[in-house]
Amino acid sequence: MTKKFYQQSIPERLETLAQKTGLSAEEVAAYQAEGGLSLEMADHMIENVVGLYSLPLGIAQNFVINGREVLIPMVIEEPSVVASVSFMAKLARNGGGFEAGMSSQEMIGQLQVLDLEDPRKAAETVLTHKTELLQAASDFHPSLIKYGGGPRDLQVHVLEETPIGSFLVIHLCVDVRDAMGANLINSMLEFLAAPVEELVGGRVHLRILSNLADRRLAWARARFTCQDLAFGEYSGEQVRDGILEAWAFAEADPYRAATHNKGIMNGIDAVVLATANDWRAVEAGAHAYAARSGLYRSLSTWSKESNGDLLGFIELPMALGIVGGATQTHPSAKTNLKLMGVKSSAELGGIIASVGLAQNLAALRALATEGIQRGHMNLHARQIALSAGAKPEQLDALAAQLAAEKNINVARALEILGQWNGSIK
Ligand code: NAD
Repeated sequence: MTKKFYQQSIPERLETLAQKTGLSAEEVAAYQAEGGLSLEMADHMIENVVGLYSLPLGIAQNFVINGREVLIPMVIEEPSVVASVSFMAKLARNGGGFEAGMSSQEMIGQLQVLDLEDPRKAAETVLTHKTELLQAASDFHPSLIKYGGGPRDLQVHVLEETPIGSFLVIHLCVDVRDAMGANLINSMLEFLAAPVEELVGGRVHLRILSNLADRRLAWARARFTCQDLAFGEYSGEQVRDGILEAWAFAEADPYRAATHNKGIMNGIDAVVLATANDWRAVEAGAHAYAARSGLYRSLSTWSKESNGDLLGFIELPMALGIVGGATQTHPSAKTNLKLMGVKSSAELGGIIASVGLAQNLAALRALATEGIQRGHMNLHARQIALSAGAKPEQLDALAAQLAAEKNINVARALEILGQWNGSIK
């Protein structure tokens, strides 16, 4: 019988990936330390480089998104995330898989215009000259137009009663296509500052992208039958209803919503990181979007279908690139994009939203039933065993003993290792 992916050795897993996806030997080598990011490359990426810092890269299984099977690379130090999203993806697959997509690829850049006699009048003037300003921004970046993107809209907001009085803010909305878009928009904004000052007077102060990318929303939905949700002594209906109750808590209470959304980001950040995208930008966008009503709420929505199925939906800003930044320079990120077979940043956004939804379900299902510690602690036991200095051949046995004793801490692990190693002598 062929071994399941999680039962394989690392070389066997690499072989499986190469066979399933057509990754070349060189691309697969990017997963190994010597094939990944070199010191020399790192030295060109940031300042004062002294080394590299590694994290585990795992491959989530069972995802079917918009009818396509996708293997999903995840970079994360926290145990149980890769296993639990894979399991939830399996349940989603039974319900037809994930449906996912994105609203558009538009990012917003902001110009802060100060020292205006009448900010409202200036706002009207900007709107009267919208077409010329959009044309000027387009002319500044002809290559973006070639890729099918470009400036799409210009909006004005007068902010009243700020600590420095009222001022004008201009929003430039740009379709950035397959780039994350921050550098692209920031340079467009810097260029537009002079024409805006010429038009309305005043002084253009800040010229910067907004991370509240609410015109670039990724979404995903999936359905789960009660039959699939049932486990142990819990019926499917009990699990479903428990999930709905847990979700209602996050919808109504920011203290709960923060942790609920942190769980979602466990899945999302891991894939954002695996593709060398800017996870701080995605984090900032997600949390600002979660608070858009004035109350910080859940990024996901869970409901019961008329046939009793559980339906999950998630929507959040997703400022991601498959070109630009480090996405095409980091060798492992390049391989990861190829592994997923993504052709656009919109496709990548839908995949990542699906992972967020899967991870959210994993946490809710555990919280609404046996609690998260049981599953989590078994995996945590391995980390404790590792940090206590267990040899590879001792790891499984030590983790199992710590979990069985329900006493998972380094002191106990050292004690057991002391006994074992003592008895070996
Ligand atoms: P970038 O500067 O590398 O620009 C992307 C380039 O890709 C453009 O020059 C564009 O012409 C080219 N391109 C090729 N094919 C394309 C296609 N199909 N669609 C679109 N463009 C295509 O990268 P960026 O995306 O402008 O900026 C991303 C970087 O900016 C990230 O590293 C991020 O960390 C950083 N950043 C973020 C913030 C923030 O989030 N607030 C602020 C500043 C910088």
